[in-house]
Amino acid sequence: MIRLVSICVLVLCSIVPSAAAQTCQAGPVAVQILGSGGPRVNADRASASYLLWLGGRARILVDAGGGAYLRFGQSGANLDDLSLVALSHLHPDHVSDLPALFWSIDQARKDPPLPVSGPSGNDLVPGTDTFLKVLLDQTNGAFRVLGGMVGGTGRGVPLAVTVTDVKKSVPSTVFTRDGITVTAIGIPHGDIPALAYRVQAQNKSIVFSTDQNGTNPTFVDFARGADVLVMHMAIAAGGTSPLHAAPAVLGRIAQDAHVGRLIVSHIGQYDLDAAVADVKKAYTGPLTVGADLQCTPVP
Ligand SMILES: [Zn+2]
Repeated sequence: MIRLVSICVLVLCSIVPSAAAQTCQAGPVAVQILGSGGPRVNADRASASYLLWLGGRARILVDAGGGAYLRFGQSGANLDDLSLVALSHLHPDHVSDLPALFWSIDQARKDPPLPVSGPSGNDLVPGTDTFLKVLLDQTNGAFRVLGGMVGGTGRGVPLAVTVTDVKKSVPSTVFTRDGITVTAIGIPHGDIPALAYRVQAQNKSIVFSTDQNGTNPTFVDFARGADVLVMHMAIAAGGTSPLHAAPAVLGRIAQDAHVGRLIVSHIGQYDLDAAVADVKKAYTGPLTVGADLQCTPVP
């Protein structure tokens, strides 16, 4: 019996990241990574998802890729504290755990409806409002058991959905409440409509780039002077992709935007040291290599 318990303990140690003990509950403003991996399956990293903590509470969830459900629980965050769910785009590695998290939201949530922000659609991808309707509609939705979230009478906290046109060349305000302002702007991610978000709160600014190829110089202005910039390092040093920026490009963007700290996340299975070295060729400021459940206080 003792032997079995020991084996179980060893297994748990191997699947829970060492950063699991980190908590964001202490600081006034902090960024927590729920998923630092993607887009491919990874033994150690959940897919894209982030929490912004304000005053010791997780107030904003950015994306909810595979594994976000588990990591949310491990983070100690409370779904009832969320003021905004901000979706960058509708690739599955960014939204696949949304229904599971929605299913867990307390019906008696103290502050309905729950705001959700996301991008407009195109021929390839529905707009965020249509996506949620197709997913949750009480009559025809895949998860019609949550029809109450999109106007039905079934279970679920009502959602208040804001869709931002990714073609707009200037930032749009998608949320403002309790001293928190969130703006969004379209970013180039192949043919997929995608948004970056900038959160202003308590005199701090945090920018979540998520997936982009880094070819739109407007993003540098959007991220300029941010205390923390989270960017996705999905491809290897020297790589090219219509969807993702190479590490050297991430470094150049962070340097040009004069950010206080760059966090690289959405880390694939490649030579990580080489990728970080490429980031540092252009970027000379503080750098954090993302890990699941890692907490970064915003000074
Ligand atoms: Zn993507």
